[in-house]
Amino acid sequence: MTHPDHPNLVVFEHPLIQHKLSYIRESTTSYRPFRALLYQIAGLMVFEVTRSFPVSRVEIQTPLTRTEAFRLSGTITVVPVLRSGLAMAEGILEMMPEARVGHLGLVRDERTLQPVTYLKKLPRHLEEGPVVLVDPMLATGGSASSAISMLRDHGARDLRMICLVAAPEGVRRLAADHPDVRIYAAALDQRLNEHGYIVPGLGDAGDRMYGTT
Ligand code: URA
Repeated sequence: MTHPDHPNLVVFEHPLIQHKLSYIRESTTSYRPFRALLYQIAGLMVFEVTRSFPVSRVEIQTPLTRTEAFRLSGTITVVPVLRSGLAMAEGILEMMPEARVGHLGLVRDERTLQPVTYLKKLPRHLEEGPVVLVDPMLATGGSASSAISMLRDHGARDLRMICLVAAPEGVRRLAADHPDVRIYAAALDQRLNEHGYIVPGLGDAGDRMYGTT
């Protein structure tokens, strides 16, 4: 169900996801459980995120009879934003190993808070199926908005974004720039602080995942 204040946002209120999120937020959680939890939460979110994926009817033979069944149609593409999208993407791929993977390397200029692209490696013909952008922290929405624009320039038509924690500022920015893109988040937090960090948030997701603090 979409959020009452944000029609472009789905927040997961599932107890298991909330349980795992409580550990990921804690400052004492080190990089190894942090990565494992991100991976697990993303795997749990996939079920809902893929609900509207197109399927096609196929005829199959069971040991007893011929019958009809349904299979995902179209070519699915998962696009993590480096670095922090990687663990979530792995969790998604565990559930959907047939997906192709594109990579976008974006860093935030800490002075201007504007996104700078340093890597863009995308599969061809993104228009052939659903595209899932993965970035755990939706903060100002600047990186996510420019990532979505890049994916559209490469043909993507059917887009969704998975994040772990979203700030209202980022959700509003995407609603303005890309109103057709639905965002799936484990939590909608209170606000951004003066450094562009989500509050209460969990700190720098990339640093916490890789132990680079
Ligand atoms: N990126 C992060 O890793 N954390 C934040 O809180 C905001 C952006």
